[in-house]
Amino acid sequence: MKTSSDLLHFSPARFIGFLKTENIRRFYLALDEHSGRLIPSHPQLQVLADYFSDDKRDFMQHEGLFVQLSRKYDTLLGAFIHRTRRGQAAGGVRYWTYDSMEDYFRDGLRLAKGMGRKNALAGLWWGGGKGVMARNPAVDKNNPQIRAELYREYGEFMTSLQGCYVTAEDVGTSVEDMAHIFSKTRFTTCIPPELGGSGNPSIPTARGVVRGMEAALKFTGSGTLEGKTIAVQGMGHVAEPLIGFLFEKGAGKVIACDIDPRLVENVGANFAEQNFEARVVKRHDLSFLSTPCDILAPCATGAILNPRTIPTIKAKIVCGAANNQLEDAVRDGRLIHEQGVVYVPDFLANRMGIVNCANEQYGYINHDPLIEQHLSENWEYSVYQTTLRVLAESKEKDEPTAAVAVRQADELAQQEHPLFGHRGFRIIQSLVENRWQDQ
Ligand code: NAD
Repeated sequence: MKTSSDLLHFSPARFIGFLKTENIRRFYLALDEHSGRLIPSHPQLQVLADYFSDDKRDFMQHEGLFVQLSRKYDTLLGAFIHRTRRGQAAGGVRYWTYDSMEDYFRDGLRLAKGMGRKNALAGLWWGGGKGVMARNPAVDKNNPQIRAELYREYGEFMTSLQGCYVTAEDVGTSVEDMAHIFSKTRFTTCIPPELGGSGNPSIPTARGVVRGMEAALKFTGSGTLEGKTIAVQGMGHVAEPLIGFLFEKGAGKVIACDIDPRLVENVGANFAEQNFEARVVKRHDLSFLSTPCDILAPCATGAILNPRTIPTIKAKIVCGAANNQLEDAVRDGRLIHEQGVVYVPDFLANRMGIVNCANEQYGYINHDPLIEQHLSENWEYSVYQTTLRVLAESKEKDEPTAAVAVRQADELAQQEHPLFGHRGFRIIQSLVENRWQDQ
């Protein structure tokens, strides 16, 4: 019998070898409502179920983890479901290389929880989940044939899960991959626009970030964006429209940086008429974060707010699109709070990515009210109002904004869908009753 430590230290390749020896093609760890613990599909995996049931860091009563071994290419196809009270679990599928099975499981648990919180805080009638595909480094990830096969199989996997999780695009996954998924299941969003999908979310995401900034300015009594200096880290898909919106709102100056000199040149040329400064930086050089400015907008990579960078920040407000900006949500959330910097939590400011695609199947309307309400000033769950609510509670209780946002999100995640109730969990229970693992 393998111990949890054996299995968790295995690389995905070695774990796949173990699954093959045990004749396991599919397995799950599903929540038992009464004990609050995970129950495995196979006795050989009891050690994993026990390990994660006792985990205080990343496990938070996740309703189900489903994993299937691909027919070819030794790739793990996973669906991690956090909560389905507000609706089916929704979140993107990540195609990533993992060193160990512990990394794989923890990434899935954390990302699924993050989506549950992002969706709930956004007032979406969706639960939280995440797809995680453990890439086999021996397989050419750029081979279109292989990708097509893998993503079609992921689509079949989605169909087998009967809709407890609805997938979407994420890091390492493209819109073409989503079309392959869609060819095998109805349980996906973010498909190409020519198949009825919602298209690139970057512009709505940038608009959401602007609303977060405006709320933070209002809350701090700093007026509007007019005349303000904003430093934008990254000049990619979200940052470029963001810079445009900031100038439209009357920003006094925008300073931006990227590691890609071509992008710096191109975006720089687009804003040549404005008070715009663009810099090329080195990948690990984070000195840009100490740029003197009113608002710092991280729009590149995660984990950039940490004990090394936070003390150098000169901005009063940090509000950007990048995911997981705090290297350690608790430690760095507190650090930035104690420094008196108003941090708009990333999962609040960047929600428009999921908002844009989550309700694709309900069709489209010009100036879609389902989308626009998130960007409005008055809707209770808009980015603007939610930011004001989080900042007010943070001030009142002298607590980091990240912690307040998580608490508000966790409260909202307890509400049940007005029509479908806690149906996602009933689906998971049906899968267990039907012996999904044997099909
Ligand atoms: P992108 O890849 O188009 O842009 C990111 C840019 O950051 C790239 O141009 C890259 O060269 C640059 N970069 C990387 N490291 C850097 C560094 N150290 N310093 C400066 N620049 C650096 O990605 P995007 O779609 O614009 O997304 C930006 C961030 O927002 C990501 O963290 C993404 O996960 C998050 N996000 C995006 C959306 C969306 O709608 N696209 C939605 C939610 C969250």
